[in-house]
Amino acid sequence: MAEKKEHKIVSATTGSQMSKEEAAAANLAAKQAAAPVGSSTPYRIGAIVLWLLAIGCEVLAVLVTFGKIDLKFIPTLWQMVAFLVLDLICLIIGSQLWKKANRIKPASEKNKAKFWLWNNMGLIMTILCFVPFIVLLLTNKNADKKMKVVGVACAAIMLIIGGLLGYDWNPVSAEQKEAAMAAITGEVLWTNSLGGKVYHTHEDCQALNRTEELVQGSVEQAIAANRTRLCSFCARRDAITTVATDEVSEELLEQVVPEVPETAQEPAA
Ligand SMILES: [Zn+2]
Repeated sequence: MAEKKEHKIVSATTGSQMSKEEAAAANLAAKQAAAPVGSSTPYRIGAIVLWLLAIGCEVLAVLVTFGKIDLKFIPTLWQMVAFLVLDLICLIIGSQLWKKANRIKPASEKNKAKFWLWNNMGLIMTILCFVPFIVLLLTNKNADKKMKVVGVACAAIMLIIGGLLGYDWNPVSAEQKEAAMAAITGEVLWTNSLGGKVYHTHEDCQALNRTEELVQGSVEQAIAANRTRLCSFCARRDAITTVATDEVSEELLEQVVPEVPETAQEPAA
């Protein structure tokens, strides 16, 4: 009988030799990590539902203003303001869900119209949620003067707030995401701060000096968490040029990271 042959096992995931159990664990982990950031669809549906509710509130605000409906229990003026506030709340939450969906599944730059639309939906919906109301009030000569002044002022302020919060200030494209995932295969780090926009490849990055807690994950997870850019200092240290970075002046970069690291160091004598 032939002797049982010992095989060398190489993990399809890691490409390195390991035990069968280890390889299985690595492959399973990779399989589970295939969609580590989940699906964008629930966020898009949620955004659309909330935007429709917002427009519904705008319609109610119009109907109340022109006396088509009256809820009786509060003055008409407050009914109008209340519907405008609800309009704004639904709009803002919808816009945030939409932006989250864009981080999970960014639009491709190749389709320019869709790319523009996907990144500007929050702004477009803001206009739809307040401009018709403003126009209707301004063009109607029979509307109560006080209602008119308060309504237009409120809607104008909300238009600005909704626009600022709804606009995508930090857009990312499918191509940028792909490039980042190709260039950085290891784990990255980012801070929990509310306005954070970058992720780092080095834990000792000078930009992280004052941060205590860091989140560690893949580039895909970082982008889903709205960290759409690689830190400029880390990019310089790693000599990465294909990934979108935050904008830091060349002077500051030179100061902090004096030179691009050599790929091969001279062996010690
Ligand atoms: Zn950094």
